[in-house]
Amino acid sequence: MSNKVFDSANFVALDTLPEIDDTTSVADAYRLLGGAGRAAFSYAQGGQRFIVKANELLNRLYGGADISTIRQRTYWSMGDAMRRLNMPTVKVAIEAQGVSAEEEAQPLLDQGAKQAFLVTEGDRSLGWLFNDDALLEVATKRLVYICGNSHENPDPDHGTCYQCPAKIVRSELR
Ligand SMILES: [Zn+2]
Repeated sequence: MSNKVFDSANFVALDTLPEIDDTTSVADAYRLLGGAGRAAFSYAQGGQRFIVKANELLNRLYGGADISTIRQRTYWSMGDAMRRLNMPTVKVAIEAQGVSAEEEAQPLLDQGAKQAFLVTEGDRSLGWLFNDDALLEVATKRLVYICGNSHENPDPDHGTCYQCPAKIVRSELR
């Protein structure tokens, strides 16, 4: 059965994920992400484009940190956050060589080592083909941010709940 890249369940359209750059603050990045209702964003660094798993990034930023540290980190630029924290699996590099929307998806999905392809039509970028379940999940689901009193938040703001003073303790994919 024919299954073109564009029709594949592993295809994610470009405009569904926010594009974050080095200068965007961590708090603003998560606000954009909340607005988009996704758990991943597109991020460029040093001429290379990545998809960032926002749930893993949040764990690195918030995990085990006290509230004043968390608060400080929400004001970091995303560039600073990426440089200061060692997080090899948080960002996944997009294959520089794009694939056509009309290509058969299966041979690409069978390439185990490669996780994300840029999908193009002529000169236009249409989105990505994700060859990795964890990456596909964060690119198609949203995150809710849970405080110490179990309230749900649309974004983690500056580390505390919108409804009470408790800090955000975890995120959940929905
Ligand atoms: Zn709360």
